[in-house]
Amino acid sequence: MEPRRFAEVVVFSPAEPSVSGTVRPAFTYHLPDELRERVAVGSLVVVPLGPRRVYGTIVALSAESPVPQTRPVESLVDPEPVLTPAQIGLARWLSREYLAPLHTCLTLMLPPGVVGHADVEVELTGEIEPRDARTEAQEHLITVLDSRGPLRGRQLDRVLPRRKWRSAASQLARRGLVVTSPLLAPPTARPKQVRTVEWIAHDVDADTALVGLRSECYPAIVRFLRAEGSPVDVSWVYAETGCTRYHLNKLAERDLVDFDTEEVWRDPLADETFVPDTPPRLTSDQRAVWDAVQSAICNPQPAVFLLHGVTGSGKTEIYLRSVAEVLARGQQAIVLVPEISLTPQTVHRFGARFGQRIGILHSALTAGERYDTWRRARTGLVDAIIGPRSAVFSPLSSLSLIVVDEEHDGSYKQEAPPPRYHARDVALELARLNGATVILGSATPSLESYHRARRGEFRLLEMPRRIMGHTRRLHDLQTRYRIPQIRYHALDDGPAEARYIPLPPVQIVDLRAELRAGNRSIFSRALQRAMDDALGRGEQVILFLNRRGTATFVLCRDCGAVLRCPRCDTPLTYHSPRAHLICHHCNHREPQPERCPECGSGRIRYFGLGTERVEQAIHQRWPDVRTLRWDRDTARNHAAHATILHLFSSGLAHVLIGTQMIAKGLDLPLVTVVGVISADTALNLPDFRSGERTFQLLTQVAGRAGRGLLGGRVILQTYHPDHYAVVAAAAHDYAGFTAQELAFRREQGYPPYRRLTKLAYEDASPSRARTEAEALADTLRDTLARWGLPATDLIGPAPPFFARLRGRYRWQMLLRHPNPAELLRAIQIPPGWRVDVDPVSVL
Ligand code: ADP
Ligand code: ZN
Ligand code: ZN
Repeated sequence: MEPRRFAEVVVFSPAEPSVSGTVRPAFTYHLPDELRERVAVGSLVVVPLGPRRVYGTIVALSAESPVPQTRPVESLVDPEPVLTPAQIGLARWLSREYLAPLHTCLTLMLPPGVVGHADVEVELTGEIEPRDARTEAQEHLITVLDSRGPLRGRQLDRVLPRRKWRSAASQLARRGLVVTSPLLAPPTARPKQVRTVEWIAHDVDADTALVGLRSECYPAIVRFLRAEGSPVDVSWVYAETGCTRYHLNKLAERDLVDFDTEEVWRDPLADETFVPDTPPRLTSDQRAVWDAVQSAICNPQPAVFLLHGVTGSGKTEIYLRSVAEVLARGQQAIVLVPEISLTPQTVHRFGARFGQRIGILHSALTAGERYDTWRRARTGLVDAIIGPRSAVFSPLSSLSLIVVDEEHDGSYKQEAPPPRYHARDVALELARLNGATVILGSATPSLESYHRARRGEFRLLEMPRRIMGHTRRLHDLQTRYRIPQIRYHALDDGPAEARYIPLPPVQIVDLRAELRAGNRSIFSRALQRAMDDALGRGEQVILFLNRRGTATFVLCRDCGAVLRCPRCDTPLTYHSPRAHLICHHCNHREPQPERCPECGSGRIRYFGLGTERVEQAIHQRWPDVRTLRWDRDTARNHAAHATILHLFSSGLAHVLIGTQMIAKGLDLPLVTVVGVISADTALNLPDFRSGERTFQLLTQVAGRAGRGLLGGRVILQTYHPDHYAVVAAAAHDYAGFTAQELAFRREQGYPPYRRLTKLAYEDASPSRARTEAEALADTLRDTLARWGLPATDLIGPAPPFFARLRGRYRWQMLLRHPNPAELLRAIQIPPGWRVDVDPVSVL
């Protein structure tokens, strides 16, 4: 074999701006002899770049260099590669597909802190004194360097403001009084080290060893360490024996014990206790699905399954089996979930089944925890990773299964920073590169996935029936909540211990008819009756609202003016405790005005609904009822989500008013009514997916209802009772919905029939934004014409629905083309444009 003398290196240099649409090439370096045997594709190295030294990763090795002159790779940062070959392939694909620079795609796969960034070291050149300084900052810098010796930039940041010391250092450098040299900062995230102690005096008896040492804790230490027989975390010794560092030092002086340090993994699961759980026998629906999935996992020919199963049909059980199968074969799996705080039960079930063999990634982890989970995955200490979209980039070297739960969920799309990838599509590509099986699961599959399944690209598996639960669990709940009679019935074709329950009845209420009948309350008569009944019997109610805040907007009753954010033009939202108006796009806040800014009328008031308004209305109508609000204002973090759900599930409140989806799999046996206050708020948005979003949301809400032992029902209040998305959701009719929706998409030329790319531009000046947009549109239309494509393949340019954001004017256009990257690379997108391939929102 030819010696591999050259390395293609992609550098991670934060200083260089990355322009979307340009793919920064890799640079070629030569490998010094001592590195040749030690590096591999995926190695993290240090290379010179201009005057600096930067981190980079080797993406290819070769015997030849395409350029005559090369500089050397300076050092290898870590003996193990930080990227797998499949991940490098994936990064190349991401870069091509989403028009993003390759280094940004590679960065997705590294935890924060691994790539430390370049720093400088500042040093005095000789006997320099403070009086050599010409400014106060120079004097300060000299004094510090004189007393502390050479310092790194990060250290100087703590002493002097960055701008000050930087300019002082460069002024002094010009006069030859200091030198600054580039230097790499160490990675910020390191595995946690603990100090350990071990008994080493094996042939000395305790009495002799401890002669002259009087404290009672010495014999205890000896007993404990001898029993352990290996290095022990010193804090355990302190806890077990009541000794202190002083005592251990005494023993070390006599060569009886030895200290050392050991790496420990910061493990986010360490504090969780998992009830071990044994897999239930499968229902007949699950059995059919499992047979197909299992044979695919065993088969070297990878497959993609679209698992369409109603909420509660037992999809998670299929995921658990699949992961178990893969682990039993010594291979690895990734499980993607939309948002951890909304899926605690799913995560818990994985923990219960697999314990420490799984790693969990979520947004509440510290950088250190992320780094550790990444390292554990890389060394093969975890076999499965569960997490949100970024978990797809975990370094698993023998990946053979990827599960995407709730595959339709919008949170799988990364909006910013680039690459603006969709984790479902990334999962498909990664699986292709690894030869892995993919399971996309949902109660409401996206039209993209459903369409591909219909065309035979994916295998469609269906589970149309809802499992109520295991008899053992049902009896527990029945006793706990003292429920005399329960309504489930047995499956006639499955294991006797699984119980099956029909989907809940859904009633559509026409809000226009309520108004005509003189009911101005936010609760229709039907919902009031249902709530009266349920609350009267001591049952619980969930009210779902597709909004947050007390009101959606503030309107002048005389001139019709709507109060808008001065920076974004977005309607401001009213929040009641302090009568504040808030812009939910840029967080602009202002007090509620007394008078209309347009006409001066005092009849200006909030209009619309938020959780606070609903709560007030409940207290007016049912004064004794206890309520809980679950929205982004009350549940800001992970812990708050859990607390609210816990309070509600333990019966401390009667009504839960939520803008969030009620957590999957949560036990809420006393809930018998789910009311949707206004089903159609999303329908009015000018986005081609508004029907699909509405259908998904309503189906999910309906799926959460009636899982209790007492059955239950759903009441959908709407101004569009005839809209097919509302009608189909009420009938649990996925097929009916998709038939209509696909016809609409085909006719309008939208996905899944045509592929869209959103090109967006924003500027502080409205006219500049417009000119820029029109210029690029002209170029694009020319290119389309040259390629012989119809001009109608470009929609726009025009200001979008959110025409101003954060004080900047937006313009955008939509390109319809099956291979947008190819077309856009051909025309060189100017800087400042934001390219979003397969956008999830066009607002
Ligand atoms: P999904 O993921 O489709 O919403 P789950 O897997 O969460 O459905 O299943 C719904 C409920 O049924 C859960 O409480 C689960 O424990 C239970 N379950 C699933 N499969 C079985 C089975 N084969 N036998 C008994 N109970 C089951
Ligand atoms: Zn007015
Ligand atoms: Zn704003």
